[in-house]
Amino acid sequence: MSKKVVILGSTGSIGRNALQVIDALGPEYEVIALSAHTSLDRLAEQAEKYRPRYIAVTDTSSAHISKQTFSGFSGTVLSGSDSLVELASLKQADIIVCAVVGAAGLPAALAAAKAGKTVAIANKEPLVIAGELLTAAARQSGAKLLPIDSEHSAVFQAMQAGNPQEVRKVILTASGGPFRNATLEEMNNATVEQALNHPTWDMGPKITIDSATMMNKALEIIEAVWLFDLPVDKIDVLIHPESVVHSMVEFIDGSVIAQLGTPDMKVPIQYALTYPQRREGISEGLQLHKLGQLNFQTPDLNHFRALALGFEVAKTSGSAPVVFNAANEAAVEAFLDGQIRFGQIMELIDHCLQVHSNQEHLTLEELLEIDAWARQQVAARLDHNTTVIN
Ligand code: NDP
Ligand code: MG
Repeated sequence: MSKKVVILGSTGSIGRNALQVIDALGPEYEVIALSAHTSLDRLAEQAEKYRPRYIAVTDTSSAHISKQTFSGFSGTVLSGSDSLVELASLKQADIIVCAVVGAAGLPAALAAAKAGKTVAIANKEPLVIAGELLTAAARQSGAKLLPIDSEHSAVFQAMQAGNPQEVRKVILTASGGPFRNATLEEMNNATVEQALNHPTWDMGPKITIDSATMMNKALEIIEAVWLFDLPVDKIDVLIHPESVVHSMVEFIDGSVIAQLGTPDMKVPIQYALTYPQRREGISEGLQLHKLGQLNFQTPDLNHFRALALGFEVAKTSGSAPVVFNAANEAAVEAFLDGQIRFGQIMELIDHCLQVHSNQEHLTLEELLEIDAWARQQVAARLDHNTTVIN
């Protein structure tokens, strides 16, 4: 019987890669639901090709044209953000690919975990802000949380070489992004175009900016804490500009097990879809002899303030990660809109963390309230942008 797959955020970078992987895997995988936020034409093309039973448009301001755009579609068309929860809990679904960007994907990821699905999770922000709720829901229902994020897929694969108690350290690698060798001043004043110019990975705009600030790695530290039940002092970050060693696990006997591959998200996506098996892949194999050498260096936490904050925030299980993430989402949006300088992204996050007092063990509703509070803090700060920040 085929595996029934739901892709939340199918129009994005991960969503499109997931569909290419499914194309290559063949009829054993059936796409039964897809979702888009604003890219309706792309969703209509995907619906025509994959003939899912459901499609959802989450941005209600774009949903009004859905009838016309999806006129050839015979399945069910849903709209609004709640539709993702519906898709994530579909009875017939086996695998839910969470490929929405940001905290917006949280309710659906949680619904998938509660429904006992195999949750192939690229959307790291829900794990950062609600790792406690998500992992508890998965434990209770028996859902499998399988990482798509390349570093976490690498750690997940390396972990299979030993027992969790035998892990000495997890080493997350980071390319260092476009500003690895930039001065602080160059970085502070970087343009949107420069920040979007990632040296090794081709990804959606938000995560590309996060890679430039290294907020992406900071979020990944917290993601690893929850996915692998690790204390933060067992997590290290190493700059590795080639993005070939996707991460490593050091065991207590001193053995380090790494996972290597070309920087192509189709590899970890496929592993999450076929786990525990491996299948022939569409990605190019690694040709180490062509690379010649691989480089590693310790990151400078003064240069990348996000990383220093990430290690701090990862120690708290309460609301600080929610504020950290929401302030970043709002600040990145403002940067992409041309409202602030690159350097102001971290200033805004720092500010929100400073004015927040941490709270523990929150419900989903409380988390979402704190998320909204942090976004308001950023908006209020932007209103006085010229006098306060510049
Ligand atoms: P993209 O911006 O390319 O795609 C995001 C997807 O989410 C699109 O389908 C978009 O719809 C949809 N979307 C956007 N906003 C909302 C919303 N408010 N509600 C519901 N759906 C929404 O992002 P990526 O594919 O790059 O990233 C997705 C997730 O995967 C992120 O959490 C990222 O951190 C993570 N990730 C990505 C990697 C990559 O290589 N891209 C690598 C590792 C992790 P539409 O386009 O129709 O507007
Ligand atoms: Mg990653």
